[in-house]
Amino acid sequence: MTDFIQDITCDFVKELTPYESARRLFSGGRYWLNANESPFANDFSLDTSLLNRYPDCQPSELIGAYASYANLEPSQVLASRGADEGIELLIRAFCNPGQDNIVICPPTYGMYAISANTFNVAVNKVPLTSEFTLDIDALTEIAHSKDLPKLLFLCSPNNPTGTLLPKAQVKQVLELFAGKTIVVMDEAYIEFSPKESWQSELQNFDNLVILRTLSKAFALAGIRCGFALASEQIIKVLLKVIAPYPVSAPVAQIAQQALSPDGLNLMLEQVAYLNAEKQWLGEQLQARNYETVGADGANFILFRAQQKDAVMQYLVDQGLLIRDQSKQVQLQNCLRVTVGNREQNQLFINLLDEYNNRNV
Ligand SMILES: *Cc1c(COP(=O)(O)O)cnc(C)c1O
Repeated sequence: MTDFIQDITCDFVKELTPYESARRLFSGGRYWLNANESPFANDFSLDTSLLNRYPDCQPSELIGAYASYANLEPSQVLASRGADEGIELLIRAFCNPGQDNIVICPPTYGMYAISANTFNVAVNKVPLTSEFTLDIDALTEIAHSKDLPKLLFLCSPNNPTGTLLPKAQVKQVLELFAGKTIVVMDEAYIEFSPKESWQSELQNFDNLVILRTLSKAFALAGIRCGFALASEQIIKVLLKVIAPYPVSAPVAQIAQQALSPDGLNLMLEQVAYLNAEKQWLGEQLQARNYETVGADGANFILFRAQQKDAVMQYLVDQGLLIRDQSKQVQLQNCLRVTVGNREQNQLFINLLDEYNNRNV
C-alpha cells in the first residue's frame, strides 16, 4: 500500500479525529438518553409533487415561519443543516485559516472547537467559573489584547451543565467586544427556558448572533434543521459561504409544519411535559444522594457518580445509554442524562437502584 493518501492529506487534518457524537460512541441500545433528543416522534405529511426540482436555498415560507416565531424580520434569519452548520458557517465566513482564533468557555458544547479545528482555526479556552458563569476578567483581557478573536461562543442554557449565563454578564461581554468580535449565543435549548432568550437584543447589538435548532424541543433531530439569527448584514455574509441547497424540500416541509400554530402548541405541550419530568428525575436522583451539577435549564440533568464508569457500563449492558461528560473541566465523574418520557426516566432510576443494590 502506498502512503500517498496520508502524504497529500492536509497537515492539520492528519491531527484530527472524528467527532465522538453520542450516536457514534454507542450504536446499540434501546433507550437513548444520551443525545438530548426528544422522546416524542411526531407525525408530518409530505407533498412529493416537486421532489424532482431543486429546493430554494432559503425557502421563504420556512424563513417567514421562523422569523415570526422568533419575532424578527425574515432578513435576520438563516436556515441551515442544524445549528452545527451555523457554527461552521460562522467559522468559515469570519476566520482566516491558520491565522484567526475563536474563544470558547468550557465546559461546553464540543462542536465549536471541533468545527474550528477542521478549518485550521485556533481555539482559545476561557473556562467558566466554578459557578459556571463567565470569567469576565479573562474575557476583558482578551478584548483589550492585540490578538482579538473573531468569534466568542457562549451557550445558554449551556450543554452539558444546563446553566444560564447571568444577563448582566452577557451584556457586559457584548459591550466589551462591540466593534471587535462576534458573540455567538447558542440557544439550542432555549425553549426549555424561554424567558432567557437574547432575540430581542439583536436590535441593540450588531455583534450578536443567536443559534437555534429544531433538534431538541421541536423533536426533529433527524431532519437536520437549525437557524442563525443576526443582523441582515451578518446573514448576507453567511449566505456567501452556505451551500446552494442546504435545506432539502422534505426538511423544509416538515420544519414548516413544526412551526405552524398547531406545531408550536404541540412543542409547548411537550416542553411542559419534559420540564415536569426533569423536576421528577432530579428529585429521584437527589433522593438517592447523587449530586446534581449545574442547573436544569435544558432537557437533561448532569450528576456525579463516584463509580461513573461502572454505572455507565451497567446501564449500557441493560440497553440504556447516557453520556459521560467527565472529561470536561470541572466535571469529574459527571454523567449527563437526557430527560425522556416517564417510562424511560423510571427505567433509568430503576437501573440505578439495581446497580446500587448489587454493589452494597
Ligand atoms: C444539540 C446542540 C446543537 C446542535 O444542534 P443541531 O441543530 O442538531 O446541529 C448545537 N448546540 C448545542 C449546545 C447543542 O446541544
